[in-house]
Amino acid sequence: MTKEFTPDPVLNAPIDKAFVEDKYEDKYVPLKKEVFVKAGDMMSDKGYEEAYLGDTIRFKMKRDKKRFWAGDNISDYVSEEDKAKLIDEATEAFELVLDRLLIDRENDPNSKGTARRLAKMYFNEIMAGRYEPAPDATAFPNDSEDRYEGMLVVRSELRSMCSHHHQPVTGVAYIGIIAAQKLIGLSKYTRIAQWCARRGTLQEELCNDIAREIEKATGAKDLGVYIQAVHGCCENRGIMAHSSLTQTTVLKGAFNTDGNTKKEFFDNIKLQQEFAPR
Ligand SMILES: [Zn+2]
Repeated sequence: MTKEFTPDPVLNAPIDKAFVEDKYEDKYVPLKKEVFVKAGDMMSDKGYEEAYLGDTIRFKMKRDKKRFWAGDNISDYVSEEDKAKLIDEATEAFELVLDRLLIDRENDPNSKGTARRLAKMYFNEIMAGRYEPAPDATAFPNDSEDRYEGMLVVRSELRSMCSHHHQPVTGVAYIGIIAAQKLIGLSKYTRIAQWCARRGTLQEELCNDIAREIEKATGAKDLGVYIQAVHGCCENRGIMAHSSLTQTTVLKGAFNTDGNTKKEFFDNIKLQQEFAPR
C-alpha cells in the first residue's frame, strides 16, 4: 500500500514563495550598535562571532585618527560598562603572558588570580587616567576689586608609570600659577596632576601634560610645573641607581620671561621642601 504523499510546506513550496516567511522575519530586530566581526571567522562553521571589544575600540580610534599612546586619554571611546568587558579580555591576555613565563597559575595559590588582579590594576589604578574623563574642576571667579593677583604654588604627590618598562615613577609636582580671572579649588590641582600621571608616561611629557591641563582649567597664562621623581626603571633594573632623581621643569609666560617670577617660584619650592621633605 502506498503511503499518501504529503508535500513538505517548505521544501515543496512554490519558488516565488520565499523560504523565509514573514513570521520568521519578525524575529530579527535591527542591531542598535555597530557590530564588528573577526575577519578570520567569517567563513568558519562557528558562524559570525563578535570581535574583542578592545579590537573594536582600537579600530574606531584608528578610523577617527585618534592617537592612543600610553599617555593619551581615551575616555571618549571607553564607557564605564566597556571597562568590565575590557578587564575580562585583558585577564585572558595576562593569563597567556603568565603561561609564557612558565608560571603555574593553576596550582600556585599566589598566582591563581594574578592575571585578573593585573588587568584590574591597569584599568582602575595605574592607568586609570587614560580611561577616566578629566576631573571636574569648577572654576570660581577671581575678577572683583580685591582679586588675588599673587602666585599660588601647590605641591602634588604623584604616582606614575614609565611607558618604556611599566615600572613605577614616584615623585612630587610643584604647580605654580599667577592667578588669572578664575580660580579652581586647591585639591583640583592635585587631582588634575594625578589624572595626567596615572598613565604610561615619560616625565618630560608628564610635565607638559600637567602644564597644559592646568592652563585649560585655570585660564592662567603664567605658570610653572616642576617635577622631581624617582624611576623604578633606573632603580630596579638597568643601572640599579638607588638615589637618582629626575627633575623636569616647564615654565610659561612670566615664569619664563621674568627673572623675579621665576625666582619666586623656585624659592616657594624650597620653602615647600623644608616644610615637607620628599
Ligand atoms: Zn623606564
